[in-house]
Amino acid sequence: MTDQIARDETVVIGAGIVGLATAFHLATGGHRVRLVERGGVAEGASFGNAGAFAFTDILPLASPGILRKAPKWLLDPLGPLAIPPSYLPRIAPWLLRFWRASLPDRYRHSIEAQGNLMRLAARAMEAMVAEADLGGHVRRDGNLQLYESEAELAASQPGWDARAREGIVFEHVRGARLAELQPGLSPRFVAGTFTPHWQTVDDPYHFALALFRAVMARGAALTHGEVAAIEPCEGGVRLRLAGGETLEADRVVLAGGAWSRPLAAALGDAIPLETERGYNTTLPPGAFALNRQLTFGGHGFVVTPLSTGIRVGGAVELGGLKLPPNFKRSEAMLTKAAAFLPGLRTEGGKQWMGYRPSLPDSLPVIGTSGASPRVFYAFGHGHLGLTQSAATGRLVADLAAGRPPSIPLDPFRPDRF
Ligand SMILES: Cc1cc2nc3c(=O)[nH]c(=O)nc-3n(C[C@H](O)[C@H](O)[C@H](O)COP(=O)(O)OP(=O)(O)OC[C@H]3O[C@@H](n4cnc5c(N)ncnc54)[C@H](O)[C@@H]3O)c2cc1C
Repeated sequence: MTDQIARDETVVIGAGIVGLATAFHLATGGHRVRLVERGGVAEGASFGNAGAFAFTDILPLASPGILRKAPKWLLDPLGPLAIPPSYLPRIAPWLLRFWRASLPDRYRHSIEAQGNLMRLAARAMEAMVAEADLGGHVRRDGNLQLYESEAELAASQPGWDARAREGIVFEHVRGARLAELQPGLSPRFVAGTFTPHWQTVDDPYHFALALFRAVMARGAALTHGEVAAIEPCEGGVRLRLAGGETLEADRVVLAGGAWSRPLAAALGDAIPLETERGYNTTLPPGAFALNRQLTFGGHGFVVTPLSTGIRVGGAVELGGLKLPPNFKRSEAMLTKAAAFLPGLRTEGGKQWMGYRPSLPDSLPVIGTSGASPRVFYAFGHGHLGLTQSAATGRLVADLAAGRPPSIPLDPFRPDRF
C-alpha cells in the first residue's frame, strides 16, 4: 500500500513526550503535522517515568561527583548504577566520552547550558500546560531531597551553590520543618533540601495522552508505522517505512527517543546515543501518605505520588536496548523504600523498565541534521525528557520557522561529539 502524503506536512517520528510536545508547538505554529509511531502513543520511556518537571535539576550526571560515587555504586550489583558485564565492551567508548564530559571545564559548560535550557523548560511548560489545558494534571508541591547525615548534605553543597548561581531557589531543612514537609520518614534522615519550584504530573502516561489529544485537536494526523530510513530528496524528505510504504514530507523531526541513533547514523550524523535503563514499581494508591516527591539522592531513586499510585524507582543500568530487564532492581529499590518510609505498604505493585535516551554529556541533541536543513533532531534527553519536552518543542518550532532559537543551541548541536 502506498500512503499518499501531501508534501506540505511536517512529520514527527516518535509519539513519546518529546515528539508530542514538538508536534504541539509545530501545529500551534501553523504546520500540518503528522506523527509516525510504530507502537502505542507514549508507550516508550514516556509511559512510566517518575513524572517530575525537574526544573531545578541542572547538574549533569556526567560530573566529578558521579566519578567519586561510581566505584562504590558499581560494587553493588543491584545498586544505583550498573553495567552488565556483557555490555561493557559496547558501552566503553560512551563511558570514555562521559568521563571527558565530567572534567571541570566541560562540567561547568554543561551546567550553564542545562541552566539555560531549564529556564526555557519552565516557561515553555507553563505556556504549553495553559494552552493545551493540562493544568489539572500538574502538582506544584516541590521536591524534597533527603540526607542520612550532615556530611552527606555538606558533600552536596557545591551542587547547591552551582544551582544558586543559576538562580534556583532551595531551602535546607531539618527537625520540625523536615517532618512537616514529609511526616513518617525514617529517623535515619537528618536533613533535607526542599525545591519548591519542582513540579510533578498526576501520571506521565495520562499527561502524555492528554497532550496527544491536544495535538490531534489542532489538526495533526497519526500514522502507525516504523520508519526504516529518512531520505532527503528534491524539495522535501522521503520516509521509508518498515512495511514498504513511503511518506513524503516537507520537513521531518526525529524524536525517536533511545531508538534514534541508527536513523541519524544512516544520514551521516554519528551521535553517541546510548540508553540508561531505569526501573520502578508502582504501588496502589494509598500505599503511603506522600506529600510530594522525595529524592533519595544517595541511593539513586525517587518516590512519587501519582493519581495512579505511589511510584518507587530510578537507578541507571547501562545495558543497551536488547538485554532482558532485571526486575531485581525494582525489588531492591522497593526494599530500601520500605526501610526509608516505615509504613509503606509494598504489596500489589507493578514493575516497569524504561529506556532513557542518553548522551555522554547529559545534554540532549536539538538541532538540524548535517544531511538536510529539512531534518531536525530532538532526542537524547536522558533523565529529563518530560521536563524539557515543551522547551524542545519550542526550539524545534523556532528552527522549522527559520527564527533565531529562544536560547543558544550550540551546546545541543548534533555534531558536537
Ligand atoms: C525510571 C525513569 C524515570 C524517569 N523520570 C523522569 C522524570 O521524573 N522527569 C523527566 O523529565 N524525565 C524522566 N525520565 C526520562 C524520560 O522518561 C525520558 O527522557 C523521555 O520519556 C524521553 O521521551 P522521548 O519522547 O524522547 O522518548 P520515548 O518516550 O521513548 O518515545 C520515543 C518514541 O519513538 C518511537 N520510535 C522510535 N523509533 C521509531 C521509528 N523508527 N519509527 C516510529 N517510531 C519510532 C518509539 O516507539 C517511542 O514511542 C525517566 C526515565 C526513566 C526510565
